[in-house]
Parts: sequence; C-alpha cells; structure tokens
Amino acid sequence: MKIKEIHLYQHDLPVKNGPYTMANAEVWSLQTTLVKIVADNGIVGWGETCPVGPTYAESHSKGALAALSEMGQGLIGADILPLSIHRHMAGLLNGHNYAKAAIDIAVYDALGKNHKISVSDLLGGAVTNNVPSYYASGIGAPDDIARLAKEKLKEGYPRLQVKLGGRPVELDIETLRKVWEVVQGTGMRLAADGNRGWLGRDVLRLSRECQDIPFIFEQPCNTVEELQRIRPLINHPVYMDENSVNLNTVISATGSNLVDGFGMKVTRIGGLQQMAAFRDVCEARALPHTCDDSWGGDIIAAACTHIGSTINPKLSEGVWLAAPYIEGNYDSENGIQIIDGHIRKPTGFGLGIEPDESLFGVPVASFA
Ligand SMILES: [Mg+2]
Repeated sequence: MKIKEIHLYQHDLPVKNGPYTMANAEVWSLQTTLVKIVADNGIVGWGETCPVGPTYAESHSKGALAALSEMGQGLIGADILPLSIHRHMAGLLNGHNYAKAAIDIAVYDALGKNHKISVSDLLGGAVTNNVPSYYASGIGAPDDIARLAKEKLKEGYPRLQVKLGGRPVELDIETLRKVWEVVQGTGMRLAADGNRGWLGRDVLRLSRECQDIPFIFEQPCNTVEELQRIRPLINHPVYMDENSVNLNTVISATGSNLVDGFGMKVTRIGGLQQMAAFRDVCEARALPHTCDDSWGGDIIAAACTHIGSTINPKLSEGVWLAAPYIEGNYDSENGIQIIDGHIRKPTGFGLGIEPDESLFGVPVASFA
C-alpha cells in the first residue's frame, strides 16, 4: 500500500472558557493542522499536529504546515509502513518531528484500517480499553485551583497536574498547600508543572517548603543543565517534559539518572513509532510517564489514547487531552470524550475516528 494523495488542512480550535494559561503562554485559540493521506487502494488515513501556541515548545502551527508542504510531493508513492515512512521523511527534511508526527499518525491509521485492526494492536496491544486521564489546571489563584481540585477529584480523575511558575513563588507554594488540603488521603496523584518557568532558586524553596506534599516536579526549569543543578538538591521526583525533544534526549536523561519520569508528547517525539520506542525505554528503566499531546482534536486524542492504552499500568501517569477545553468533536459518534477521569478507547479499525471533513473546509495544500 502506497501513498497516492496527501491533503493538508488547517482548522481553528477556540479554547472553551479561555484563555488556557501556562508559565510562558496564554492561549485563546489554537490552529491545528490535519493530514489526510489516500492510499493507492483507496484507504484513507488521518493525522494531526497542534502546537499549543508558538512559545510552549520549539514548534508553531505555520511551521507544521511549512514542513509538511516541504515533504508533501516527495512522499507520494512512499510505502505506508511506519518505520519506512520515517526513514523516507528523514531523506526529505531534517528535524521537525512535530510535523512528521502527523504523517506518522496518518500512516498508522491507514495501516490499521487496511489490516482491519486498531492502532493500539499495531503498537503492541492494549492493556486496557478505559485509559486513565489526568486534568491540568491553568495557572490561577490558590483558592480557585483548590476548588478545581475538589471538582476534578469528584469527577474521578486519578491525577491532577497543577500549572505553576511565571509569578511570585509564594503564590505557587500557597496553591500547592491549598490543593493538598483537598486531595490529601484521597489517592489523587499530584504533579507541579512549572513549564520551564522557575529559576533553580524557586524550585529549591518550593521543594523545601512543601516537603510533606508528595508531588512530582514536571519540567521545573528551562534547560537540561538547570535540571542537573537542582536535581541533587531537592527531595521531590523530577519529570522531564519540554526538554525531551527526541528519543536521543530521552535516552541521555534516562541513562544519566537525571529524571524519575517524563511528561511526553506524541508529536514532539515524532509520532507513534518513536512513542512506542520511548514507552519501551521507560519500561526497561521502570520510569513512569504520561502519554499526551500539547493540544489538538479527535485525531490526536485518538492517537494518544491508543498508545496510552498499551502502557504498563504501573508506569502510566495518564493521557492528557485538550478535549475538556474544546467544543464539539470531529466525529460526532466516535469522538473522544473523558468520562469519570478516563478515556474509552475507540473501537473501530485504525484510530477508530471518522472525521467530518466538511469541518475543515478546502485543503490548504494537496499533493498527488
Ligand atoms: Mg508539562
């Protein structure tokens, strides 16, 4: 099965009750990029990539479109096989993992449909059809975030990620203390995500003043070197998110015992092919990790859910989705939803999502 046509679409996803805030960004609407590949036997595969604005990671929506346009013509006639397509893409464009991931996801979707199996089966097999999610708060006042924690606990989320950083550290300390008053003894796990926004000084203080609270730090500082510096000085576990830009950085961070786990994004690491390798590296070193993306609609949500369903439950920190922040679905019947803090894995072949193409308008580029 070979690629006969590629169509690229861009589509706006406004943030419900926006903005969504992080230490380095405030976003009101995200432009997602969708890829439709048509195989020579007529099978269609969908992919998606949606950076959460231009400052969260080294990616942005216009960059995704430019990179995919650069590769488009060269991918016509390529085999629809994951490893093969990645080697083919490497010959067309260096880097730009987050754009290549959209092609990777479309290839898995088409391959699953062709073989009449799900993407999770292609990725090794699901261990659950009810995948745990976690909720990420935006940055907010301590009392507001504590109230949100209570709400999400009641909804059944097993884990809460509190967004912090980019403001006086006293407010972050107060927020964590108030959230802990709510979740203590409930079993809900806590992550404190600085999104690169803290100085080492702030992390040391936070860790010292919240020693009794069993949260994990997620990407507290901006660089790997800063993580190396704070790591021996704090008692809380450290997970790497934004710095783990590819499999190589993951292997280095794992091999040097720099981190206790990861927040990982399917598109940042390059797609499902790399995500499966990442999953296996983490299992070999018994490192827990999430399985998310930065933003996006049903296609990216389905891709995250399929790979998330294959993770050893002991190591799964959940699949975060933008779904609670997005109005509606691409697929009104099988669209991804979070129910009781968990995500039901789609049951169809491939990704199990049939997007309503009319939502995306005319393609912004097509190749054949
Ligand atoms: Mg994070």
